[in-house]
Amino acid sequence: MTIKLYWHDSRLRQFSAQVVDCFVQDGHQVVVLDQSAFYPGGGGQPHDTGTINAARVLAVSLADDGRMLHHLDGDRPLKVGEGVAGEIDWSRRLELLQQHTGQHILSQAFWQLFGAETRGFRIFDRVAEIDLRLDAPPDELAAAMVRAEELANTVVFDDRAVRLHTVTPAQAAQLPLRKESFNTDCIRVVEIADFDWSPCGGTHAQRTGEVGLIAVRSWERAKRMTRVQFVCGGRALRDYRAANQTATSVARRLSVGRDEASEAVARLSEEHRQLGRRARALVELAIKAEAQELFEATPVTHHWRIILHIFDDRDFDEVKLLAHRLVTYDGVVVLLATRRRETARLVLARSADLPVEANTLLHAVCERLGGRGGGKADFAQGGGTRVAALEGVLADAAATLAV
Ligand SMILES: [Zn+2]
Repeated sequence: MTIKLYWHDSRLRQFSAQVVDCFVQDGHQVVVLDQSAFYPGGGGQPHDTGTINAARVLAVSLADDGRMLHHLDGDRPLKVGEGVAGEIDWSRRLELLQQHTGQHILSQAFWQLFGAETRGFRIFDRVAEIDLRLDAPPDELAAAMVRAEELANTVVFDDRAVRLHTVTPAQAAQLPLRKESFNTDCIRVVEIADFDWSPCGGTHAQRTGEVGLIAVRSWERAKRMTRVQFVCGGRALRDYRAANQTATSVARRLSVGRDEASEAVARLSEEHRQLGRRARALVELAIKAEAQELFEATPVTHHWRIILHIFDDRDFDEVKLLAHRLVTYDGVVVLLATRRRETARLVLARSADLPVEANTLLHAVCERLGGRGGGKADFAQGGGTRVAALEGVLADAAATLAV
């Protein structure tokens, strides 16, 4: 078994060791040392990275027999018995141990306040998350997040000691452990002074102050649990910066202070809603006038008025509205189209008193335009892509109607 140097000292960055084994796996050198400060991952915390001599350590894993496997970038083999110098990437370790220790604190806070057990924990690239046995209506959950966050940060600000204890199961049974299941003869318990006792083999801060701010970022219901995303320490600082930048830039666009941005956006959306309503009313008025003008300008041929018009790049909803308005007059057949680049959209409608089968005729028109169309006998719509043929096809359709 590889001696785990991180077990007793999570701040150990550099170490010397001897090569016990070295072999090639998937094109990479894998080296086993007699002792190592690299954390091999586990319990939701990813593995460390760093260097062994000049080679990058890409990944670290623990084999079933307790040997730690360091996966190296590079193909130069190390000799068994050779002395090597190892160094872990400290910024990565610090970031991971802040999230990991922060999780111990946050999980205990949810347990103390709400009896909510933590059933899962994962650290991702930007956030970490825990799965809690906690359910409540959204408002109560929001309040619970704030209370747990408050308690967790009080523990951080207290700068309490984080102590490691190696204990037997009998000794462990005397401790108020948060997690109860373990299956080794000897276990390590991580104590956060007067707050939390939890069996864990990961890397931790030495004092809670080192964790830095613990911030709940978001939460959601997932698999009958409440999944809480949070950030600690350096990540919390970066997340605050990003959130502040977003809020500030939104506020600047609205010419208000950062803390007034939310209210300003609410006002803006209300204005937007009212403007939308007013715009719709004005469009209806305009369409009414346009319909009357079109109707009056179109002569009666064969007892009907055939109103044919092609618009360029006009909103199709508006075109349909115009068609609906036109067929409120008696004796009208309307064939309207709007074209935009390679697409034409069409509507064919007729007054209630005419025998024209709008859907059948429009279907035939759209087929000639390389598209499809259909609808009801008095109102049909469709489209096609042969825009160049549009004028000719519509003229033919109008001629059919005029017979
Ligand atoms: Zn831990």
